[in-house]
Amino acid sequence: MSFNSLGLTKALLKAVDKQGYTSPSPIQQKAIPLILERKDVLASAQTGTGKTAGFTLPMLQILSQGQHLRKRPIRALVLTPTRELAAQVHANVKSYSEFLDIRSTVIFGGVNQRPQVATIRNGVDVLVATPGRLLDLQNQGLLSLSNIEILVLDEADRMLDMGFLRDIKKIISSLPRKRQTLLFSATFSKEIKKLANEFLHHPVLVEATPENTTVDAIEQKVYRVAKDKKTGLIIKLISEGDWKQVLVFTRTKHGANRLCKKMISAGISAAAIHGNKSQGARTKALAGFKNNSIRVLVATDIAARGLDIPLLPHVINFELPNISEDYVHRIGRTGRAGASGEALSLVSADETTYLRDIEKLVGMKIPVDIVEGFEPDPNASTKPIKQGQGGGRNRNNNSRKSSAPKNNSDKSNSSRRPKRNRNRRSN
Ligand code: AMP
Repeated sequence: MSFNSLGLTKALLKAVDKQGYTSPSPIQQKAIPLILERKDVLASAQTGTGKTAGFTLPMLQILSQGQHLRKRPIRALVLTPTRELAAQVHANVKSYSEFLDIRSTVIFGGVNQRPQVATIRNGVDVLVATPGRLLDLQNQGLLSLSNIEILVLDEADRMLDMGFLRDIKKIISSLPRKRQTLLFSATFSKEIKKLANEFLHHPVLVEATPENTTVDAIEQKVYRVAKDKKTGLIIKLISEGDWKQVLVFTRTKHGANRLCKKMISAGISAAAIHGNKSQGARTKALAGFKNNSIRVLVATDIAARGLDIPLLPHVINFELPNISEDYVHRIGRTGRAGASGEALSLVSADETTYLRDIEKLVGMKIPVDIVEGFEPDPNASTKPIKQGQGGGRNRNNNSRKSSAPKNNSDKSNSSRRPKRNRNRRSN
């Protein structure tokens, strides 16, 4: 199938061609015609499926064919859970609208709001935003959403995970009722279905599993290891394998920092990316990783969500996630676009329950290996790590409750916006 048959205009086809895409991905094939028909769409797709172009291309076409108002009110709003994803989506909007008379911008927290406000004042057709900053500006009366024709909720499951439900509802309540709503989510939980029932109008369901990110396309392996030997083992694997681009997941931001320091001491260039890092530091780390000046990027789940890092050969779970679905998200970052990928997990005794849950979810037993000198501790307890003792979100998403242990979230800016941010992870 070619892009020509999807009903896209010449200007968009030219932009697609410039990106070097030869054929639409499954999610694009399904979603683009439906969105062009002005249907509400509920799409199941995760990062790596080409979902961003799947909603951006038809959105731009609708906007460019619609009425241009002189003042350029915001006509399309894309909400994303994280700053990185917002920046990435906006970069896509920019590239795809290169040959159209469409203006766009992106807003997110952690940076000065003044330039963002100035750009919006000059008039933009498309606004990409994280919920927190959007509400801030809205509350200050600095932007109006009363002309929104299209709303996109990107990675809606993650936005709910991060405690944005109330913010999202508030934002949606300020939008015109007559609009097109597109909801993209990697998983369809009860909460997502509820959100869709509430805010989408007779949605059409589209599903696409990423071609090369299905669990069985990725080589998975578990290394059973004593907890205190994990650092030594990961350094050995990366050094001896001479791996150049490795994404490592830890459960906490403190864990990410610690591991990063030890990597650097061992002579492996590394950077950590998590909610406590400034936007500048995160962008720099990601850029370094992409251009190969940094070999290892150590990330928490929240920070890694939505990162567009193509062709990643190695993903290592330094610690298993306590939410099994996060494992699938994590390993989905390898083996993309036809490249071979390897997902390794370092598992200590106290992670045995997590491993069992993950194997249940992915429907297979993950092969186990033990490296000489890094054997598991036969006397270690298999009792799961308690939440708050280095754990991340728990299974009930209790991280949103104010009783959640302090060290288990990726929150930021809590001192600046105490009320709304107190219970939430960073955006
Ligand atoms: P996404 O799932 O939107 O994060 O996209 C994942 C990656 O696939 C991005 O690097 C896109 O630029 C790329 N991409 C999107 N659509 C296509 C396509 N039709 N063919 C090849 N690559 C694509």
